[in-house]
Order: sequence, then C-alpha cells, then structure tokens
Amino acid sequence: PSQLPESVDVLIIGAGAAGLMCAATAGQRGRSVLVLDHANKVGKKILMSGGGRCNFTNLYTAPENFYSENPHFCKSALARYTQWDFIALVEKHGIPYHEKTLGQLFCDNKSKDVVDLLLAECRAAKAQVRTRCSIQSIEPLQQGYLVDTSLGRVACESLVIATGGLSIPTMGATGFGYEVARQFGLSIIPTRAALVPFTQHRRQLERQQDLPGSALAVTASCGEGSFNEQMLFTHRGLSGPAVLQISSHWREGQAVEFDLAPGRDLGDWLLQRRAENPDSHLHSVLAEIWSKKLVQYFLQRQGIDSRALKQYGESELATIGTKLQTWQLVPAGTEGYRTAEVTLGGVDTDAISSRTMECKTQPGLYFVGEVLDVTGWLGGYNFQWAWASGHAAGEVA
Ligand code: FAD
Repeated sequence: PSQLPESVDVLIIGAGAAGLMCAATAGQRGRSVLVLDHANKVGKKILMSGGGRCNFTNLYTAPENFYSENPHFCKSALARYTQWDFIALVEKHGIPYHEKTLGQLFCDNKSKDVVDLLLAECRAAKAQVRTRCSIQSIEPLQQGYLVDTSLGRVACESLVIATGGLSIPTMGATGFGYEVARQFGLSIIPTRAALVPFTQHRRQLERQQDLPGSALAVTASCGEGSFNEQMLFTHRGLSGPAVLQISSHWREGQAVEFDLAPGRDLGDWLLQRRAENPDSHLHSVLAEIWSKKLVQYFLQRQGIDSRALKQYGESELATIGTKLQTWQLVPAGTEGYRTAEVTLGGVDTDAISSRTMECKTQPGLYFVGEVLDVTGWLGGYNFQWAWASGHAAGEVA
C-alpha cells in the first residue's frame, strides 16, 4: 500500500457513517482529507444495519427522538442537515427506497447502496479513505495534531474523531473515541448498551418455552419512556422494536410494563363480546387478538380457566380483562454490547460546540456521530445524527 501523505488539512479517524459524511463535506470545500479506519472495510455497521437494508433516516426526525444529558445539543446540527437533505442525496444517487413504518426509510435493495453513495461522494470530493490502519498516538501541536499510525505519521490541522460507540465489538467497535476524549481532559457520560434485547431468568424462559418466534403489538413503558410497537419472544428473552426502544429507558432492577392489548380496554371488550356471542369460549375470543400459543400462555400465567363467556359474572370478566391486559416484568438484564444497536452516553457535549462539533477547549479537535452523548431512538434516527453531525463538522473542519 502507498504511503500516507505527510500532512493533510483534515484527518478523520473512523470510516463509518459520520466519518465518511464529514470527509465528503470537508473535501467539497477544497480541504485535503484523509479518513483512517482500523477495520478491513469501511461502513461495516451501515452494511449490517436495518437487517441488511439500512434504515438510513426517519421522515419525522426531531430533537425529541434523541437522548442526551443536554437534550438541546442535537438541535442545531439536525436543523442544518435534515432528513430531507439526506433523502435528496439518496435520490441523486438513484438509490431505490421505501417507507416501512413510522417514517422509517429503508433501501429497497441493500445497505451497500448507502456505503457506495458515501464512497462516491468521498471520491468526488477527493477525500482519501484508508482501511487496516490502527492509530497509535495523537500529539497536539502548536497548530493542529500529529498522529502516529501503523501506516506512518500524519500531521493535520483538524482532527475529527468518528469512531462510534461500543456496540458489536466483533464489527470493529472500540472505546478509542472515549480514550481520545480523556486524553484531552473531556468527561464521558457513562456508557451503556441500548436498543438491545432483554434477557430473562431461566425459570421464566422455561415457562415461555413454546413462545420463541411469537410476536404481538404492545405498549412498553418504563420510567418516562413509552413505545407502541411489536414485541417478540426469543430463546433468551424478549426483543422486537418495542423492547429495543424501551431498553434505552430501563435500568437494572426496574420493572417494565407491557400493555398487551394497546388501544383497547380488554375488560370492556370481553363484556362486549359476551353480549354479542355468549356461547363463545374465552380462549377463542382472545385468539382474535393474540396467537393461540400466546392466549394459552397468558391464561395460564394468570391461572384463568377458559369457559364460555356467559359463565363469567360481569365483574369477573372485567377483572379477567384487567389481569390479562398488563404484564409487569423485571428483565434479568440485556444482551449487552454484543447485540446492542447503539451506545447510550459518550463524550460529554458540554465541552463541544453544538454548531461545529469542535471541542471548546481543544481547537481543531472534533467529535461526530455516536461517540458523542447523543443517542437516537430505533428507526433511522441514529444514522440521521451521524449524517447531521458529520456534516456540521465537515463544513468547518
Ligand atoms: P460507526 O458507523 O460505528 O463507525 C465507526 C468507525 O470507526 C467504524 O468503521 C470502526 O471500524 C472505526 N473505528 C472504531 N474504533 C477505531 C479505532 N480504534 N481506530 C480506527 N478506526 C476505528 N441506525 C439507524 O439509524 N438505522 C438502522 O437501521 C440501524 N441499524 C443498526 C443495526 C445494527 C446491528 C447496529 C449495530 C447498529 C444499527 N444502527 C442503526 C446504529 C448505527 O449503525 C450507528 O448509530 C451509526 O453507524 C453510528 O455512526 P458512526 O459513524 O458514529 O459510527
């Protein structure tokens, strides 16, 4: 492989979503740009995202869809590079896409379309990208930085850290960005795995042994969070969008509450079904909203015998409805960074300019993307943050 240039205007560490967006943006301004990544290929998380179809943004992206110690921090960048800007870029490259649900935009074909888009933008902007390059040290200079790497030494005026969060270490995730932040005296908001499935205790899993693969619509609530989406039973516990979303609010030991029949009062509904059809059995009526396996499990869990509806008293049926409607559960834990989609917490935004992503105390040093303490909901918001923050830094670095 050819030598690295001796110096560049902008050196970006991390060739993921935010780093490549930043590189293309800075390159378009005529800056000389080099992106370095230790992995064997760029954008691995983009490639595996959205089940291989990359949920690249969300039509309804708004600051309310992000968690951070400072909820205002994300506003400026999101307003200056919006979901419509990224959609225009996707359309410019002729990438077919569709809305799946809740404003989530996915590629029709494959995630690689998005990686190809970013690389094409980098090429057009003459930004160089090098993989299999590990970073050994960063030294601040009077003006700029000197970076030692496995491929040689590079000096730069602006240094952009775009190394992402801790989730999926097998895909190349490292805590590198946090180490750089510490080196320059920045604080880190404690990190934790988020958008992650819950695990359950073995005894509970044994009771649920027929359920893996079963899904249902729920409202999952914990603390201030509440999400109305699908829940999925797995061999290790619970997953599906509702569970991934609520995992960002959950802390060890807390209970999560599931409304198993969102949008209806199950007691009232059962009474209404009894008036219409008194001879039908409880289990077959419930099978109108849940699968047979789920009906059996929920009835068994509450110790309810299924009889003809007319055989229950009015208040008895209302009580049955209430019991079946809600499920309070204390998860054993989460699957952790091994399968988490994102990392909550990260570089404290207190020390970062929300307009430029530059470190206020360390001129020329920028942090973009997931390494910052900005974490989106499930649904394309995390990529939108990567595009917006990468673009913000790329405009000034
Ligand atoms: P990354 O894209 O993670 O890029 C960081 C880069 O830095 C990587 O290329 C990595 O190799 C490199 N790097 C790390 N450490 C070093 C080091 N020490 N030296 C050199 N290079 C280093 N979000 C959505 O919005 N929609 C989705 O559909 C979606 N699906 C996902 C599915 C999965 C399975 C996962 C894990 C995540 C998903 N996400 C999704 C989240 C999204 O992928 C991330 O939020 C986003 O990629 C963050 O962008 P980033 O550029 O900050 O970091």
